[in-house]
Amino acid sequence: MLIALISDIHSNLEALQAVWEKIRGADAVLCMGDIVGYGASPNEVVEFVRKEMERRTFLCVRGNHDNAIAFGVDWGFNPYARQALRWHQRVMSVENLEFLRRLPVRQIFADDTGRRYLLIHGSPRAPLDEYLFPWLPEGEFRNVLSYVRQDDLLLGHTHVPMLKVVEGRRIINPGSVGQPRDGDWRASYALIDTETGDVTFHRVEYNVEESARKIIEAGLPKFLADRLFEGL
Ligand code: ZN
Repeated sequence: MLIALISDIHSNLEALQAVWEKIRGADAVLCMGDIVGYGASPNEVVEFVRKEMERRTFLCVRGNHDNAIAFGVDWGFNPYARQALRWHQRVMSVENLEFLRRLPVRQIFADDTGRRYLLIHGSPRAPLDEYLFPWLPEGEFRNVLSYVRQDDLLLGHTHVPMLKVVEGRRIINPGSVGQPRDGDWRASYALIDTETGDVTFHRVEYNVEESARKIIEAGLPKFLADRLFEGL
């Protein structure tokens, strides 16, 4: 089977649509959180996700931005993120906020070979908050996996694609759909082919001008529009 991995959509509808064109044929879609925050299309993105979840195997966990918006806690966020959070809370529908509140913090998925995956936004040590960047010492990844009973760990949160293999177990971050931060502005996702065991990373161009224009029009910080072009 083909499993599509996505994360950190961040209310960017144009990026999600571009990725979706590529992954719509996948047998399962796994999303590691932060559906909303930063961008200007939170209701459209949540409604897209809700609709697709009714049609196909599509699991999603709650990210720190989803959590902050849904529950009204903005402790620890930078001023730009906080301004976007408050805007989200004003414009999002009651139903869409309720959807975010009900997202689980962890989910488990088993593929057709029996391999099991734990989905979590940040890290098993601090599910919503810890950043597991690829440049951390190898010992950190070994330690993180000691908290995981499943074979593989699927993460988001850093907006940086990553594959670590520790004694045959994998830690995979597909990067960010809606706000990449690895210097490449294009939307990021990953695929797992369970037949070959391969994990591949992919980038797709999207209408970034439109996403940026909507951010400015919504009165959100210009910085949030500018960074989409930089991928930083
Ligand atoms: Zn994020």
